[in-house]
Amino acid sequence: MTQKEMHDVVIIGGGPGGLTAGIYAQRAALKTVLIEKGLPGGQMGSTDTIENWPGIENITGQELADNFLSHAQAYDLNIVQEEVTAVEPGLEHHTVRLANGDVYPAHTVIIAVGGSPKKLNIPGEDKYYGKGVSYCAICDGFFFRNKTVVVVGGGDSATEESLYLAKLAKKVYLVHRRDELRAGMILQQRIKAESKIEILWNTIVTKVNADDTGVSEVELQNTLTNKESRLATDGIFVFVGFNPNNQLIPAGTPMDADGFVMTDCKGETTMPGIYVIGDLRQKYAKQIVVAAGEGATAALAAAHFVQAKKGSQQ
Ligand code: NAP
Repeated sequence: MTQKEMHDVVIIGGGPGGLTAGIYAQRAALKTVLIEKGLPGGQMGSTDTIENWPGIENITGQELADNFLSHAQAYDLNIVQEEVTAVEPGLEHHTVRLANGDVYPAHTVIIAVGGSPKKLNIPGEDKYYGKGVSYCAICDGFFFRNKTVVVVGGGDSATEESLYLAKLAKKVYLVHRRDELRAGMILQQRIKAESKIEILWNTIVTKVNADDTGVSEVELQNTLTNKESRLATDGIFVFVGFNPNNQLIPAGTPMDADGFVMTDCKGETTMPGIYVIGDLRQKYAKQIVVAAGEGATAALAAAHFVQAKKGSQQ
């Protein structure tokens, strides 16, 4: 275990919110560390094309993630690749514990750890994960070239990923439980114009079946008639939303019914100096541009917090 020196801000999570907070914190000359257990970029990195980052009409998720990272590195942001196991709030300072035993005391903590894909919780889903069941089209789509795939969901993710998969697969069935998509209108128009994509309305997947080579079919049920059917497919991609990664949030912090963290307009929780930003924060729109804005806001607020705290100690 290494007890690290006091930091002004520890940022947890290296997605668009965390990296933007890092850039702003460095610009505010705060002693900063960003801790990320995976690759910096977060969900951005596994998105095919991003068309709503203002100022750039069209960019791959990986490229935009790389741009965020190199921008942060240009400000010498200290990025540590390790898992955070606990955030312990304190009156004097907060404490961030890492899986490798390192301990960071910090005046402020910005938590930007997003969410994890929701599962359908149906038979075969876990058993055939990696054998035809996937939650990431850009990671696994390659294996389904000229094959048939089922995509489940009706939001921005399911429609965007269906469009991506249609570039590779022979046929994409988009299975949605209602008769109307939740996705934004531009994605809805594109989906309907793509001849390789067929939408199965008012339908849910109830079971995933496989043979020796992996997923071979899904069992379906019509939500209006309850009629059951089977559909041959080589794979199933599930995009039915995200569960908030709220395991690190200190006990007693208010959350909504779905587990997203409630904060004030600065992103500050009820624990002074602890901020939550990005997809983990309860909000209307989960967007890269919103996460980035929240990262900027929280870092500016953290700078003010640290300045006030140090001023009162003199
Ligand atoms: P989402 O917006 O929550 O949509 C989830 C979809 O899955 C909904 O259509 C929902 O159906 C369906 N669903 C949920 N549980 C289901 C179940 N058990 N069985 C079958 N279907 C189920 O999730 P998302 O598409 O992952 O998007 C998450 C957030 O990120 C959203 O705020 C989205 O706008 C944002 N996002 C934005 C972009 C972009 O701007 N380009 C791209 C990706 C994501 P119902 O419609 O019936 O509820």
